[in-house]
Amino acid sequence: KDFRNNVKPNWCPGCGDFSVQAAIQRAAANVGVVPEELAVVSGIGCSGRISGYINSYGLHGIHGRSLPIAQGVKMANRELTVVASGGDGDGFAIGMGHTVHAIRRNIDVTYIVMDNQIYGLTKGQTSPRSEMGFKTKSTPDGSIESSLNVMELALTAGSTFVAQSFSSDLKELTSLIEQGMEHKGFSLINVFSPCVTFNKVNTYEWFKENLTSLNTIENYDPNSKVQAMNTLMEHNGLVTGLIYQNTEKPSYEEMVQGFNEEGLTKQDLTMDETKFNQLAAEFM
Ligand code: SF4
Repeated sequence: KDFRNNVKPNWCPGCGDFSVQAAIQRAAANVGVVPEELAVVSGIGCSGRISGYINSYGLHGIHGRSLPIAQGVKMANRELTVVASGGDGDGFAIGMGHTVHAIRRNIDVTYIVMDNQIYGLTKGQTSPRSEMGFKTKSTPDGSIESSLNVMELALTAGSTFVAQSFSSDLKELTSLIEQGMEHKGFSLINVFSPCVTFNKVNTYEWFKENLTSLNTIENYDPNSKVQAMNTLMEHNGLVTGLIYQNTEKPSYEEMVQGFNEEGLTKQDLTMDETKFNQLAAEFM
């Protein structure tokens, strides 16, 4: 079985999201997951369509809420590999509260953000990842807000897996998603995924000129949070690769004790009359 289905994506030709779809499918296959063991939960935006394009369990949720749903899926069935995905507007604006708390909770979900620095589905407005001065229909004189440094924010929020990649580098992106799926805890993978229709600044060429691969930095150690933070600040966040990983911190599921340890889908729902009467009495 593979992860392709017969639904044709309706992204614009050249959209970076095609590569993210391919990378998720390849990564899942490479780590030995089968379609019935994978759940893809997405938010709203062009990127939110991705859950319908992969042969797996899929749920196209509501704006900014892919993470609460994905965390619920994981808690209900621990045997699933759970991927949440969406755009930078979805995850870093309306959904930012969920993103930060999922990070500190360290629940075993791989969160893949397709970061195109713009709202594409609504035809091009400034997003939390747009650079200061960025001109769109919502900021015709240029944005007066600075771009959100999400990788730095993830580090300070206690993330145990922080990575960044680029749609053009399918090999690296696939590898990082594999590592995220295998990481026991929350993994955040931010993917520079160009919107070829509305973002004429952050193009494929722009990223090729401005991104620095961590592979080219001598003695880069992804276990050092200090080095990760310093490197992000030196390069204005424009780095690709595994930025930071902490394998020591237990995941949320490992920490849960005494409640729902097996996951709701594994619990015996049959109930004898005596137990039912006891429970009913407690509510009287
Ligand atoms: Fe991709 Fe932009 Fe087209 Fe949306 S509008 S499908 S983000 S290229």
